[in-house]
Amino acid sequence: MPLQPIQRAYLDALGIEVWEQRTRAPAPAAPAVAANAPLAVAEPAPAEARGPAAGGIETMDWEALEQAVAACTRCELHKTRTRPVFGVGNRRADWLFVGEAPGADEDRQGEPFVGRAGQLLNAMIEALGLRRADVYIANVLKSRPPGNRDPQPHEIAACEPYLVRQIALLRPRLIVALGRHAAHSLLKTDVPLARLRGQRLSYRGTPLVVTFHPAYLLRNPADKRRAWDDLCLARRIVEAGA
Ligand code: URA
Repeated sequence: MPLQPIQRAYLDALGIEVWEQRTRAPAPAAPAVAANAPLAVAEPAPAEARGPAAGGIETMDWEALEQAVAACTRCELHKTRTRPVFGVGNRRADWLFVGEAPGADEDRQGEPFVGRAGQLLNAMIEALGLRRADVYIANVLKSRPPGNRDPQPHEIAACEPYLVRQIALLRPRLIVALGRHAAHSLLKTDVPLARLRGQRLSYRGTPLVVTFHPAYLLRNPADKRRAWDDLCLARRIVEAGA
């Protein structure tokens, strides 16, 4: 598909040079979605197999879920957060992007990915020919860890039922896990990010692709090209309807 001018502008913003064919060539063979040998990533057990129900979260609708997050005291982070960061976007989206946790800007505004990393995420989304409003964006943690420290395992465990329910309500066609924490938390693995990238994985039957976190890409722009490859793989999966 030829690039639209806006996509080209966003790819430029990503620092990604894309070669386009000048003449029509035969359609390329269907991409090998999982070229690499599949990784042994355990499918997370269904919620009901992991202990008692988390306060009825697994049956909540969007409104009840958002209210539950706003009132949540399941971990200490509610004491230091300014605002909970529930998630944003189209609740009928095909694409779900999952980040790690709110930073300072997100904590102030109550919306995920609104700082510099968010601007880069927007550029990645636009480069795919989508708008931010077309997709859904959420985090593993709904509250900011003080000083942007890494999420702690007990915080991830406490917050997990909210993301699980968001995914169940959304039923996306594809999940993009942004960075190590999102990938590890969703896939229940500690396999390094480098080995998780570049292939079709699965979260409870929903295709999942792992890529770099936008904040990492701001620090390591040379990897933007590889992130773009991950997003192209994700797009092929969505387009194939697999
Ligand atoms: N980083 C994240 O992982 N999530 C945000 O919402 C912002 C920055």
